[in-house]
Amino acid sequence: MNTQEIINLTTKYIANTYNRFPIALVRGKGCKVWDADGKEYLDFVAGLAVCNLGHCHPKVVKAIQEQAEKLIHISNLYHIEPQAQLAELLCKNSFADKAFFCNSGAEANEAAIKLTRKYFKDKPVPAEPAPHLMRGIKQGGENKFQIITMEKSFHGRTMATLAATGQKKFQQGFEPLLEKFIYVPFNDVKAVANAITSQSAAVMVEPIQGEGGVNIPSESYLKELKALCKEKGLLLIFDEVQVGMGRTGKLFAYEHYGVTPDIMTLAKGLAGGVAIGCMLATDEVAKSFVPGTHASTFGGNPLATAAGIAAIKAVLEEGMLENCQKVGKYLLEKLHKLKAEYPFIKEVRGKGLIIGMELTVSGADIVRACMEKGLLINCTSDTILRFIPPLIVTEKEVDEMMKILISILKTIKV
Ligand SMILES: *Cc1c(COP(=O)(O)O)cnc(C)c1O
Repeated sequence: MNTQEIINLTTKYIANTYNRFPIALVRGKGCKVWDADGKEYLDFVAGLAVCNLGHCHPKVVKAIQEQAEKLIHISNLYHIEPQAQLAELLCKNSFADKAFFCNSGAEANEAAIKLTRKYFKDKPVPAEPAPHLMRGIKQGGENKFQIITMEKSFHGRTMATLAATGQKKFQQGFEPLLEKFIYVPFNDVKAVANAITSQSAAVMVEPIQGEGGVNIPSESYLKELKALCKEKGLLLIFDEVQVGMGRTGKLFAYEHYGVTPDIMTLAKGLAGGVAIGCMLATDEVAKSFVPGTHASTFGGNPLATAAGIAAIKAVLEEGMLENCQKVGKYLLEKLHKLKAEYPFIKEVRGKGLIIGMELTVSGADIVRACMEKGLLINCTSDTILRFIPPLIVTEKEVDEMMKILISILKTIKV
């Protein structure tokens, strides 16, 4: 099929939830992708921070092929070798003791929200029964179910994660929302402290906000948040769905800040492009998930977890973290230099290979113009260009990208 035929078929049969660009990508290799008409693009979107290893990394392809011939799906009624092995890899390389697998970022956050509730329900009933217990409600545990999340956060599109997401634009039209989420400004520990009540159970935060505009916290923010959670008996949940798996130059973003959470969620970059989600937790918290409390038919299936093993090994063994740090710094400096020349660039910020360039003008036209010239970049929150290339991107490819970007920026009139 050519591009127009694919677009026509999409328009006819696909629910209209996406504002798609008028191209159809059919093939990819490394940092390059090709559309159905054969046009080549340099990809600085990487499937929205999913294809961290570049497109169709040979080790991931091989793992999928080999696993597909052996066993594609079985059920969590039985033990699954690659699932257990991927869990081991994730736990040994993080703070965590236990993993729960699912199929997306939203599902991983759902698991985190459910585990939080269950964890407090499992806590011994206070010696003095609370009034509602006296009224005969046979619910053990502490009365804690409120989760504090951040303004400009993004945690997913299911009903619970939509409520967790601190952005009205995603919630509108879907009310009533799941209760007991409150939002405070990102990077503001005092605001969290002021929001805590006797019902507060957890603080849920992206160590670096992705969708909300590549917002980087102060060096001490997460550490202070952890201390506050500890003092008040709250769980700390890191949503690393976007910034985990090497995106920031370390395997997990929290490693930059010298602090570990109680629960962490992963998805996007975890399996080299294959759909997967994972919630990691300490033993102390994870023990509240007992048989029957949570499940996923496809969660941790052989195919996805075999891909995950290949992906995480490639990230760790092929110098991708080092490359991410080096090329990320190179790109950040190049973008910074543009600020002097183009007054509509307000700020450039990032860590590793998640970089945002905030403009005083809309970014949509720039993205479209770049695409016409064979460059894929992303714009989030209307005015923030987001650069999230594969972690294998080279300085030469950054130079190529800059050439196209500058040719477009030159045409912007303000
Ligand atoms: C993308 C994203 C999600 C949602 O992931 P899905 O796989 O689309 O459900 C959740 N949290 C963050 C931080 C994300 O970037």
